[in-house]
Amino acid sequence: MSTTISALESARAALPAFGDRLIGPDDPRYDEARTLFNAMIDKRPALIARCETADDVAAAIRFARDQGLRIAVRGGAHNGAGLASVDDGLVIDLSPMKAISVDPGTRTVRVGAGAVWGEVDAATGPHNLAVPTGIISSTGVAGLTLGGGHGYLARRHGLTVDNLLSAKLVLADGTQVTASADEHPDLFWAIRGGGGNFGVATEFTFQAHPLETIVGGPTFWAIEDADELLKAYREWLPSAPRNVVGFFNYHTIPPVAEAFPEQFHLRKVCGIVWCIDASDEDAEAAMAPMLSLAEPLIHGVQRMPIAALNGAFDGLYGPGDQWYWRGDFVHEIPDEAVVLNREWNERMPGFKAGSHLYPIDGAVQDVKTEDTAWAYRDATWSQVFIGCDPDPAKADAVRDWTRGYSEALRPYAAGAGYVNFMMDDEGEGRVKATYGSNYPRLQQVKKEYDSENVFQVNQNIVPAG
Ligand SMILES: Cc1cc2nc3c(=O)[nH]c(=O)nc-3n(C[C@H](O)[C@H](O)[C@H](O)COP(=O)(O)OP(=O)(O)OC[C@H]3O[C@@H](n4cnc5c(N)ncnc54)[C@H](O)[C@@H]3O)c2cc1C
Repeated sequence: MSTTISALESARAALPAFGDRLIGPDDPRYDEARTLFNAMIDKRPALIARCETADDVAAAIRFARDQGLRIAVRGGAHNGAGLASVDDGLVIDLSPMKAISVDPGTRTVRVGAGAVWGEVDAATGPHNLAVPTGIISSTGVAGLTLGGGHGYLARRHGLTVDNLLSAKLVLADGTQVTASADEHPDLFWAIRGGGGNFGVATEFTFQAHPLETIVGGPTFWAIEDADELLKAYREWLPSAPRNVVGFFNYHTIPPVAEAFPEQFHLRKVCGIVWCIDASDEDAEAAMAPMLSLAEPLIHGVQRMPIAALNGAFDGLYGPGDQWYWRGDFVHEIPDEAVVLNREWNERMPGFKAGSHLYPIDGAVQDVKTEDTAWAYRDATWSQVFIGCDPDPAKADAVRDWTRGYSEALRPYAAGAGYVNFMMDDEGEGRVKATYGSNYPRLQQVKKEYDSENVFQVNQNIVPAG
């Protein structure tokens, strides 16, 4: 504790411009400021520096290096592995940097690195524009983008990084640069999937796409129908046009009276969450092959803005739950995997657990493996195994189920998973695998921009040499 207090005193002396934006353990705001989305993870940083500008970020990096403090970078703090914080180190908290500006003429959006996706949707929606995001609106823009980013618009417009035009970063030595196709192109290549390894991003510029409303929402069937439905889905999805998206999932109907009919509460189900950019008639025709296979228990599909769909599950997945999750890329879903998926989900440890198969074919596959750090351009799905429960007493059960489920399915997976669905216990080999043939080049870029591995509280890429 005394080291921690002295780090704080040094910081107050060295960084006077921060004023009360430096938060240490003696501050009544400390516990709230260090809290992460995943309540399973409890870290106690020496101090938290709330940054408002790129100059603040540079000063915080220099201070941490002078003091020998490890650095963590906090965007939306959603990371499952809790990589937005670090014990006894310095947290660069970007949450005050939320400026968002939309240029409807060029359909571009500039976003401060402390924004969350719901804030971006709120800014783009009035212009009938959308940036491809994730499926929960409280997720941070920064962490999701730097890891790749997939959601409802991926089949149509690619990953979030495929729509990134440039980013401003503060490097390990405090230098401020812009990375784009024309400036620091190697850095731009690396940050499109390589996470926070190369610098602290302070602003992103995205290409947005015209989008008025979509036909979206979930259909749920009894889990007994899951094998037949998944076998049909694995053929149907890849042949569907790119404006038709549905992610297959396994869940338990939450006991939420306002959202779900009571007779289905706590019933185990499989489902598809739809996002179809088409007329009502065309959307119905697109869903028909799946809907005709078995009688749904719930068909909650309607026309809505994409922002409403991106926020539809926020209430269920808010902060403060126990999270342990894993991911795997999937090329094909053989019959054995179909059965295992159902069996593991029949044993879900609680009503917030489950699994999703997110489609990452279509436009995601238009980009070549070597064009961005994100390497799995030939996978059809990114599967996530979701261990989640509000009860801390169930943390072990949630972790064991997720590990067991993901390991049972691993023989049928592509050999790696999405970096943003990793905890911190899967080892360097798993990080290497997610980058595949791009890993050696990432190590070179890491060496060029952060040879001392200042940015190591992440899914770490080891500098070359
Ligand atoms: C409920 C839920 C739903 C999700 N759904 C999706 C989804 O649909 N699609 C998807 O792709 N992902 C999804 N994710 C995963 C998400 O992409 C990751 O959790 C991601 O890390 C969150 O970003 P963040 O900014 O909130 O994270 P943080 O926890 O703040 O940071 C995560 C990592 O990014 C680094 N980082 C953060 N900001 C910066 C920055 N400005 N500069 C440099 N490094 C930085 C951190 O150091 C850390 O290593 C979901 C997560 C949750 C919890």
